[in-house]
Amino acid sequence: MMMQYLEIKKQCEDCILFFRLGDFYEMFFEDAEIASKELEIALTGRDCGLDKRAPMCGVPYHSADAYISKLIQKGYKVAICEQVEDPALAKGIVKREIIRIITPGTIIESNMLDERSNNYISCVYINDNEFSIAVCDISTGEFLTTSAEGTIMRIIDELSKFNPSELIVIENNEPLDVKTEKMIKDKFNLLLTYKKYLNDDINSLKERFNDLKDISEIELIACSCLYKYICENQKSSLSQITSIRKYVISDFMVLDATSRRNLELAETIRGKNSKGSLLWLLDKTKTSMGGRMLRKWIEEPLISIDEINKRLDAVEELINNVYVACDLKEFLKNIYDIERLISRISCGAANARDLVSLKESLKYLPDIKSALSSCKSDLIKNMYNDFDTLDDIYNLINESINDNPPLQLKEGNLIKDGYSSDVDKLRDVMKNGKEWIANLEQKEREITGIKSLKVGYNKVFGYYIEITKSNLSNVPEGRYIRKQTLANCERYITSELKEMEDLILNSEQKIIDIEYEIFTEIRNKVAKEVIRVQKTARQISIIDVLLSLATTSFENNYCKPIITKDGKIKIEEGRHPVVEKVLSSIFVPNDTNLDLKDNMIAIITGPNMAGKSTYMRQVALITLMAQIGCFVPAKSASISIVDRIFTRIGASDDLSSGQSTFMVEMAEVASILKNATKDSLILLDEVGRGTSTFDGLSIAWAVTDYISKKIKAKTLFATHYHELTELEGKLPGVKNYCISVREHGEDIIFLRKIIRGGADQSYGIQVAKLAGLPNDVILKAKEILNKLEESDINKNIKANLKQDEVAVSLLSDKEKEINLFNFKEREIIEELKEIHCIIKCNR
Ligand code: ATP
Repeated sequence: MMMQYLEIKKQCEDCILFFRLGDFYEMFFEDAEIASKELEIALTGRDCGLDKRAPMCGVPYHSADAYISKLIQKGYKVAICEQVEDPALAKGIVKREIIRIITPGTIIESNMLDERSNNYISCVYINDNEFSIAVCDISTGEFLTTSAEGTIMRIIDELSKFNPSELIVIENNEPLDVKTEKMIKDKFNLLLTYKKYLNDDINSLKERFNDLKDISEIELIACSCLYKYICENQKSSLSQITSIRKYVISDFMVLDATSRRNLELAETIRGKNSKGSLLWLLDKTKTSMGGRMLRKWIEEPLISIDEINKRLDAVEELINNVYVACDLKEFLKNIYDIERLISRISCGAANARDLVSLKESLKYLPDIKSALSSCKSDLIKNMYNDFDTLDDIYNLINESINDNPPLQLKEGNLIKDGYSSDVDKLRDVMKNGKEWIANLEQKEREITGIKSLKVGYNKVFGYYIEITKSNLSNVPEGRYIRKQTLANCERYITSELKEMEDLILNSEQKIIDIEYEIFTEIRNKVAKEVIRVQKTARQISIIDVLLSLATTSFENNYCKPIITKDGKIKIEEGRHPVVEKVLSSIFVPNDTNLDLKDNMIAIITGPNMAGKSTYMRQVALITLMAQIGCFVPAKSASISIVDRIFTRIGASDDLSSGQSTFMVEMAEVASILKNATKDSLILLDEVGRGTSTFDGLSIAWAVTDYISKKIKAKTLFATHYHELTELEGKLPGVKNYCISVREHGEDIIFLRKIIRGGADQSYGIQVAKLAGLPNDVILKAKEILNKLEESDINKNIKANLKQDEVAVSLLSDKEKEINLFNFKEREIIEELKEIHCIIKCNR
């Protein structure tokens, strides 16, 4: 057996092999050592003809899922090796084979998946300056591909839309360098595998999917490699994947990984929680399919006015048509995850309960369709006309499958009475036989006169007649055949009883076999309708998302935005959708007026904590919400479609990729300046703060100049460099705004209202006081600030720079290399930073 084990292990070197032995999955050697540690189970050993005992550990087969799930989450692959012949019939060692390899991206078990997120596996092919991506969720059957020009950062941006749990990188060309590989692994927390592609793989793909004409050569490479990898692991037909959909990146609003994170679309930056994200706010969906679809809509805002308006009209209709919306919500509550059920049915992994869940969901489809019938908006009307209520599938399952079937498929009780005459006949035989046996006890008691005579059954001896020792003398001679002697009784059989027992047991096994056969036939019949079921599942999820958007819009008093292409973003009394929900006090609404001419760049100044970041994000979120087809938190809004939203917010190290805070900041600014167009919306929350004041201010100034003259994109720029307010009137399109505060003695009161004009102070020390810095520090900070304001700091810094030049001349080449310039100036700034003062050091 160990030789068989070693032979099989060779086929899955990079996996932990779950080797089936009776009722357990056993692991040996290194696998056992890893698994015992990761799963916290006892490590034992087994003699295997080697000098040392083989390390071994095991888990019961019926609870294996939980252990497998734990290993997968920790980034391992698990190969499942089963006994593939009946041990009773096997000659010698039972034949065993790997029936499936489970990896993070190829899970179909519902208990291992997050209901409300897709589980994507992705494949990337990089060829010079071009790349292609294939993405698949085998639990839903979705398979997508795209390609574009760009570098690895562009690929990461695109992958961040899907957040894959597993990535295959095609290594026919260069493999990824170590730094990039680590960066990707850290960013997505995924399992990364390298694979080579072969031309044959493309041919197989073309044979499997007939409609691939839109898909380019480079995309075919990624698709074929991904498909082959999934097939090899899944070892099934994967018929839930019915087509490959090509999409074009620029057909949607483009959001890079940084902007997705900064805008907290699906999770918060701190804590990485869903609570506090836009998704959390908008998600009132009733089904898991709807939940997943809403996440996709948020990750992929539209740029077509027509498509957006279709969604907005549908949302409006559902807001106004309260009865329809209420009915639909009630029906949707009963719908299971049809999309994942049909996937499991298609690949032969579904049990009878899955079919019943599908049936229970399908029951509500006619009601949903009839509720949609009165709707007039294009999107809903088209769905209504095209809505397949799948009655035939409902009827098929309803007629055949028991309403309450067992979990296991080899226990019988799957098929309803009246569906199969074979099953009915056998059930009759069993019923009569059992009745016969039930009557036997009474009959034999009468014949023998033994009142305590019993008829019983056990798995080893079958049916028997039991007579206590004290009554043995009353047993008629030759009537019974002795079978078993126990301490206080004897057990007998008769030939009639034996015949009946054979009949009952044979029928029982036969029923189990026939029921299983009928069940798989029905499952296959349903599986053939996968395309129809997937289409209805998609429509259900869209209805669910529209209802969810309508509910949130209505509950929070949002307005329907007007979508234009005039280049203007005009928002009256806009609010931040999430902050207004979590705030204990009242949210102060603010207006926005951006266009491509006089109001292109808003320089926003104001004290710390005034609400600058909140305001900028609110403009971005309102724009994004409008483009996913949702009403927006404002009194009125006219939004010109934006092709991209860029954000440069906050400071963070990217140590895994070897970048300092300032480097990350500059890389983000560089990417914005390189990729933004006049149709983009740019959010800059501080630029240049991570370096010395003069450097930072110059960079911020030059960036504004570049955007104003070259890119001409609508931009919101929050800054504590009050010098930037001098740009109004000097650069085209620049306007100053500030967030108002009122001084109250030594303190400040935040008014949160955005007004025209620039602020002249940052009130950093007051905010530091509010934040609870020790009083001593606050007093010291005030003292330093006064001194700095009195003295001419500019002169000081310049003098320091001069001293630097002298100092630099004294440095060795090596020291110059590590860039010790401006150290005096840095010292000053660092010292001030340390005591948490924001100083007006350029005044
Ligand atoms: P800093 O310059 O220190 O980064 P900031 O000006 O960017 O500060 P925000 O982080 O936007 O300030 O806002 C600080 C807090 O003020 C928010 O967390 C929120 O609680 C509150 N706030 C912001 N805007 C408003 C508003 N319009 N109405 C009510 N409260 C608000």
